[in-house]
Amino acid sequence: MTEENKINVSAIFGENVFNDSVMRERLPKKVYKKLHETIENGAELDLETADVIAHEMKEWAIEKGATHYTHWFQPMTGMTAEKHDSFIAAPMEDGRVLMSFSGKELIKGEPDASSFPSGGLRSTFEARGYTAWDCTSNAFIREDSAGATLCIPTAFCSYTGEALDQKTPLLRSMEAINKESLRILKLFGNTTSKRVIPSVGGEQEYFIVDRQKYLKRKDLIFAGRTLFGAMPPKGQEMDDHYFGTLRSRIGAFMRDVNIELWKLGVTSKTQHNEVAPGQHELAPIYAPCNVATDHNQIIMETLKRVAYRHDLHCILHEKPFAGVNGSGKHNNWSLTTDDGINMLDPGKKPHENKMFLLVLTCIIKAVDEHADLLRASAADVGNDHRLGADEAPPAILSIFLGSQLQDVLDQLINAGEADHSIKGSVLDTGVSTIPDFMKDATDRNRTSPFAFTGNKFEFRMVGSKDSLAEPNIVLNTIVAGAFAEAADELEKAADFDITLHNLIKKYATEHQRIIFNGDGYSDGWVREAERRGLPNVKNMVDAIPAFNSEKSVALFERFGVFTKAELDSRVEIEYEIYAKTINIEAKSMIDIASKHILPAVIRNSTRLADSVNQVKQVNASYGTVQESVLNETDHLLVKANAALKRLTIEEEVGKSMAPGREQAVHYRDHVLTAMEGLRAAVDQLEFITDKDIWPMPSYGDLLFEV
Ligand code: ADP
Ligand code: MG
Repeated sequence: MTEENKINVSAIFGENVFNDSVMRERLPKKVYKKLHETIENGAELDLETADVIAHEMKEWAIEKGATHYTHWFQPMTGMTAEKHDSFIAAPMEDGRVLMSFSGKELIKGEPDASSFPSGGLRSTFEARGYTAWDCTSNAFIREDSAGATLCIPTAFCSYTGEALDQKTPLLRSMEAINKESLRILKLFGNTTSKRVIPSVGGEQEYFIVDRQKYLKRKDLIFAGRTLFGAMPPKGQEMDDHYFGTLRSRIGAFMRDVNIELWKLGVTSKTQHNEVAPGQHELAPIYAPCNVATDHNQIIMETLKRVAYRHDLHCILHEKPFAGVNGSGKHNNWSLTTDDGINMLDPGKKPHENKMFLLVLTCIIKAVDEHADLLRASAADVGNDHRLGADEAPPAILSIFLGSQLQDVLDQLINAGEADHSIKGSVLDTGVSTIPDFMKDATDRNRTSPFAFTGNKFEFRMVGSKDSLAEPNIVLNTIVAGAFAEAADELEKAADFDITLHNLIKKYATEHQRIIFNGDGYSDGWVREAERRGLPNVKNMVDAIPAFNSEKSVALFERFGVFTKAELDSRVEIEYEIYAKTINIEAKSMIDIASKHILPAVIRNSTRLADSVNQVKQVNASYGTVQESVLNETDHLLVKANAALKRLTIEEEVGKSMAPGREQAVHYRDHVLTAMEGLRAAVDQLEFITDKDIWPMPSYGDLLFEV
């Protein structure tokens, strides 16, 4: 390996992060201590301290070549937003400029971000919105074509303190789960843990295509997914040649992604090819929930940016290619104390671990009672093509426990007592040179939307481009709710052990319907789930109302995570996002079909007709094949044209409607259906049209020729 190809991971890791070690080194002891008090106990940061931190942060950033700073925030669009300010202050009398950055500028920003959706929480004429520093997530320097920018993770609130972003409620939900978890720990005699933080590891799936081909796909450019496209011949995905060429380009890309992420302190750990051709995955090591959420945004941005440098394009859409596996984001979630206890760790003998059993059954109860809310937290226009569309995972929420825990709960439910835990056994591979090793007591289940995987739950419904914030806001809050209820009972119990035992048994019994250890993709499960009364919410429009149902409002308000007004506004925004997204897709289809595809097909027909005429002059019986292709083309052209007309009408109707549920329903029931009609005719045309004439790269070109 040449010198310049060597990567010294430990040397570059966190190089561009204003992290704890930088702060300890650069900040005066008193200031460093004050900041830590804020981080650990939520104490308010005074302006004097903030001034010192801001100054040091600026000096550090300028040493690293930064010219600008930005309050990096996550509005309700699910993406990140930023407004850049340079460090230069007003020029001095001698014409030189000073670089300045005050504590006030660090703590508070006021972007004129009035065009971000607020769902009626603020009107543009009173558009004050503030960004406030989240000092529990490190500031970092991002290097890109705009130069180096100091990014300060912030929360975004309205003038009256309502959350206009994903971060504010996420931090609130972390406070709720912290408080209620500490109550549980205390009940079991823990006096040492001071904080409980949800740990989150987000596995990110994505597609990579060649940028030049991407640029020829207007649907990918406008809608982020292909709106047309016939499947390539089956079996192509097994082609070794394609696989070979793909590897070297992707390898170089992944290498650069890792370097960038490591510099930003993101623990990029695992990378591999996914099931679908052109699909890959990246997983970092888990981190505190808000940091993991920020890091996931950094991961998505970095994938896009580095892909661009490699003349590639990264697609984060949940379903970029029909008929090919979509992309998700697995949200691994557990609860960790500041002194390193994982509350979801069952230990070797789960049946004896009473705190674990309480935690587990509380989570089961929470997920069962709020399955609709959890489902809604993963709802996204793109995700509708995965959830509820014969793909992983199904839209029905269920929990996978695995044989060991299931057995413990069964003992409890049936016999009233659990007196043993199934142990792992020796795995014999049958190959003498491979050492036998102990298997886990429980196998994995890849089809479950909410699976227990050793010492964490893996929520697999989240869409690939969605923020991790929402699912974790919901998870933290519903579990906080269940913990609070249990703690209320246990704290006043006359006999703790008996009350505890009865509570665990009660939760396990009453909520066993949500547990399913079988194949989540089978039709049998759909019927079984219906029999059990589990919700099967197939699309975003039907998922949205769960956010501001009476039950959800009561829960969120109880823990101060959302007010009713905030929830109502989110519901409005979600409907609007749904309608707007499909409107863009519909308009893109209309544009592509009428300006590119249909003209190309007509050119093809003309060529075919000319060919028929020419060969018939040689012999009248010649040209039957051309004639039949021409006939079929003509037939499909008529169909496509009619579908195009219909889509145009439906889109016009939708566009003229007032934003809200009714509009979203129109887009789902009429516009989407019209889009499907147009696509069906066009995809059939693609099969019989000369490839040289077809106006854009095919699925085969996009998926296999990277
Ligand atoms: P998989 O087989 O699903 O890829 P891994 O064990 O590789 O499972 O973990 C996947 C993700 O789960 C990683 O991001 C990892 O950091 C995260 N993870 C592991 N342990 C925990 C935990 N206790 N809490 C939260 N996330 C975790
Ligand atoms: Mg996983």
